[in-house]
Amino acid sequence: MWHHDAVAPRGDGTLSHDLLPGEKGPQDACGVFGVFAPGEEVAKLTYFGLYALQHRGQESAGIAASDGSQIMVFKDMGLVSQVFDEASLETLQGHIAIGHTRYSTTGGSVWSNAQPTLGPRPEGTVALAHNGNLVNTGELLRLLEEREHARSGEIARGNTTDTALVTALLNTEGSLESALRDLLPLLRGAYCFTLMSEDTLYAARDPQGIRPLVLGRLERGWVVASETAALDICGASFVREVAPGEMIVIDEQGLRSEQVLEPRPKGCVFEYVYLARPDTRIAGRSVNESRIEMGRRLAQEHPVEADLVIPTPESGTPAAIGYAQESGIPYGQGMVKNAYVGRTFIQPSQTIRQLGIRLKLNPLREAIQDKRLVVVDDSIVRGNTQRAVVRMLREAGAAEVHVRISSPPVRWPCFYGIDFATRAELIANGLGVGDIARSIGADSLGYISQEAMIEATDQDSSTLCSACFTGQYPVRVTDVEELGQGTLDLHTQQTVAAREDA
Ligand code: SF4
Repeated sequence: MWHHDAVAPRGDGTLSHDLLPGEKGPQDACGVFGVFAPGEEVAKLTYFGLYALQHRGQESAGIAASDGSQIMVFKDMGLVSQVFDEASLETLQGHIAIGHTRYSTTGGSVWSNAQPTLGPRPEGTVALAHNGNLVNTGELLRLLEEREHARSGEIARGNTTDTALVTALLNTEGSLESALRDLLPLLRGAYCFTLMSEDTLYAARDPQGIRPLVLGRLERGWVVASETAALDICGASFVREVAPGEMIVIDEQGLRSEQVLEPRPKGCVFEYVYLARPDTRIAGRSVNESRIEMGRRLAQEHPVEADLVIPTPESGTPAAIGYAQESGIPYGQGMVKNAYVGRTFIQPSQTIRQLGIRLKLNPLREAIQDKRLVVVDDSIVRGNTQRAVVRMLREAGAAEVHVRISSPPVRWPCFYGIDFATRAELIANGLGVGDIARSIGADSLGYISQEAMIEATDQDSSTLCSACFTGQYPVRVTDVEELGQGTLDLHTQQTVAAREDA
């Protein structure tokens, strides 16, 4: 077992959805990847898999690989392309690998919380990568403390994530397979795990299947990944989704599957709206098609007389195309995203900070001058970004700015791996649609209805989580006071306790 030592966070990269400095959009928890493929360069396959999952987490990246006898890990803060080079990938030899891109939900954004997490086991080591967020970490911590070897491994070294907790809880007698089988029923919340011992790859998904996880086939092995886009990039063919509640074990004997927990599907509807890549398919539905359909439905529900439909780049693009198709209003580009001023650890100077959204977006004056615009975006969280966009478009000469949103108002926090904001910060928590329109300075504002959004995903509403829109949480949240990053205010805790319906 070998560890790469930390270096200071490095700037910069692209791929950030955030448009306004200091104003984060919804942040995804993470992307996970796993591969078992004798004869393949598994570290490189994992590298490209993570590259395709970069949008799911941009704070740190890591890969663990094993040649059957020893697990090596390389992880660091930064984007996949910053963390790895040929030399570091060369150290990751073997035929089994897992990988991770991270945005922090539980536990801060520091090197010691990067994944994969390593933990000792009686007969070896476990490396674990996690996408999601557990909601009973307090309970699990108490369970760990009851055990004699409590707080071994990374937990003892200050790793504060729920992932390190799960890793430590897998340190029991018997095989890793049986440890995982015993532990999964004790976990609550959202998890997609890829994990490995020296000679076996495992994958597991929570019984609600909140976050996506898919299985793919290589000529000489198997791949598991958060999104189908990560299968495509490494030449794996899609086999099927990992079922909610399923554990998969892959070793030299092949692939075994076990339904450890009864499936109660509640896939995250926000994956279709914004989180997943447009070229990914979830539960058989193209994410891009879902978004275009959301735009069409938005146009039916909130028509307006206008000259041009423009997206907020890039996430509003498919819904804007759908809105234009349905309304007959021409589609065009009204703003250009400055793609290479993405995520940075360098604080902008005061002069640059004052530019606000102009750091990321520039209006195309000729295209929007004197036009009545429909601006389509995927969601409104705090409203600051939309306010800045509307202002920028007016300053650039737009005659009218009508904002259309392809998800309903976000009123509740997410406990299953997406960091929106505290409830108090959500603009739709306190204000009605008319007030929000005034607050962001739009001539009109329309949100898609809950029903239309869900219909656009082609899924049965009973199989989806839409708690951030409805407050109906599919998995009971008991440890709210112990959840990381101050996600909650007191009011939310009380309300959540009252509304949970598990
Ligand atoms: S609360 Fe919202 S973002 Fe979180 S899992 Fe449910 S639908 Fe997805």
